[in-house]
Amino acid sequence: CGIVGYVGNPALDRDHSAIDVLMAGLRRLEYRGYDSAGVAVVAEDGVESRKKAGKLVNLSEELDANPLGASTIGIGHTRWATHGGPTDQNAHPHLADHDQLSVIHNGIIENFAVLKQELAADGVTFRSETDTEVAAALLGKIYRGEAEGDLTRAMQLTSQRLEGAFTLLAVHADDPNRVVASRRNSPLVVGLGENENFLGSDVAAFIDYTKNAIELEQDQVVTITADGVEITDFYGNPAQGKPYTVDWDA
Ligand code: GLU
Repeated sequence: CGIVGYVGNPALDRDHSAIDVLMAGLRRLEYRGYDSAGVAVVAEDGVESRKKAGKLVNLSEELDANPLGASTIGIGHTRWATHGGPTDQNAHPHLADHDQLSVIHNGIIENFAVLKQELAADGVTFRSETDTEVAAALLGKIYRGEAEGDLTRAMQLTSQRLEGAFTLLAVHADDPNRVVASRRNSPLVVGLGENENFLGSDVAAFIDYTKNAIELEQDQVVTITADGVEITDFYGNPAQGKPYTVDWDA
């Protein structure tokens, strides 16, 4: 339902910690309605995530009780359940690749049942009832296989295989400087900062930080780092989104 992504520069002495940016973004997206929420960051010891059914305050309390490691890169999600009830387990992020890959998703993966069978036959076990976890598992498999550890390439190849509507965001512990995202039939906007960049399902997600945005077009993959934004189609060909300046006051 609501999506936020963030990557900053850990070397800069700035108080934009990933968790603060993600939680502020999720609060801004609350108006859309949701039944669960979750976040993941890449910290010193790898991917760490927390997720909770219910209002954002439940997630906040969980984060107070079990704080995440310091980080300047992460993803956040508010869920509106379509596949699997609104439980902690079905909340996003979903993990794959030995819990070092973390994925959030808006929309519906229409061919998830076929893909789930294929992955289960490969030995993958699932911990939720969501279509999203299937996309996460496929991304993990392709990351290790065909994409040879290139998360952007893995997202392109995975997107080619997914049907339906999706905005997908992923981070991997092996590549702690990039957030990779993809979209088909579901919105995704990049927010351009200085030595930091953002992703959102709409500009509200990062409006506290920047008004410079790029709206992605249909069937595009974007990779953001602290100082770069790279857009391609699902086949790796360079592509462009639609740049614009947000003209409303937050
Ligand atoms: N289909 C996914 C799920 O049920 C994503 C729903 C959403 O857009 O929040 O978990």
